[in-house]
Amino acid sequence: MRKQCVFGPILSRRLGSSLGVNLVPYKTCNLDCVYCECGATLNLSIERREYLPTMAVIDALQEAALRLRGYPPFCVTFAGWGEPTLHAQFGRIAEAARRIFPKEHLVLITNGTLFARFRELLEEIQVFDLIIPSLDAGTEAVFQRINRPHPSLSFAEHLESLALLRQRFAKDIWLEVFIVEGLNDAPEELLALRTHLAHLRPNRIHLNTLDRRPTCTWVQAPSRERLEAIAHFLGGEVIPSFHVARISPQATGHELSGEQQCAPRECHSTPR
Ligand code: SF4
Repeated sequence: MRKQCVFGPILSRRLGSSLGVNLVPYKTCNLDCVYCECGATLNLSIERREYLPTMAVIDALQEAALRLRGYPPFCVTFAGWGEPTLHAQFGRIAEAARRIFPKEHLVLITNGTLFARFRELLEEIQVFDLIIPSLDAGTEAVFQRINRPHPSLSFAEHLESLALLRQRFAKDIWLEVFIVEGLNDAPEELLALRTHLAHLRPNRIHLNTLDRRPTCTWVQAPSRERLEAIAHFLGGEVIPSFHVARISPQATGHELSGEQQCAPRECHSTPR
């Protein structure tokens, strides 16, 4: 059980040495993205529940802190086998992580869809230093095709959720856009997406694409040149293979940076 809750540290392309925190059993999410590199969603749920025992997660964090004494990770990252904000005790676990790792950056990787429906999350996220949500579509039709959401979740609610996140979270937001060739890369879709991004005002826009086996085998990555062109159009950057992790001083009170080696993509879909 504890191995399910806390994993790593892994070397992340964006975050450096990152201790992962997983709050849900494989594979529990309110989306079933065609590109998910963790596999198809087995439990498509939009219910907040105590999916993994809260004390097991907190105990695993304490054990990890002891194990890593003298070699602390750069970040403690809530990610894992599905959507972490679905956990009913997410806020309590995040507070515990803050206490157990007071100096490390606390990062949340989320699909960003639940802040409008569960407004308590807007308080629960305040202990984080950095939030990395996703937005892959410019329209409802493409949202349905690429993210295959729980039937009760609309694209308008996803946008409202991200807008509330921006309003209420003053620290860094790095918004991730996953590009699937032939699905969300049409000019009119990208234009709609760019309009939403201008409204949402993330601190950074990160373009991502496939580098592992997707849930749907027909999913194709665009060429590097095409991805670079889309990143330019959207005002973002392609997630680099080598990166200097840099979280702004207002997020943490001090700026930190550290060059890291290429590593597996950090993703809310996969603990690695
Ligand atoms: S990519 Fe993330 S949001 Fe999409 S199905 Fe996988 S875990 Fe859920």
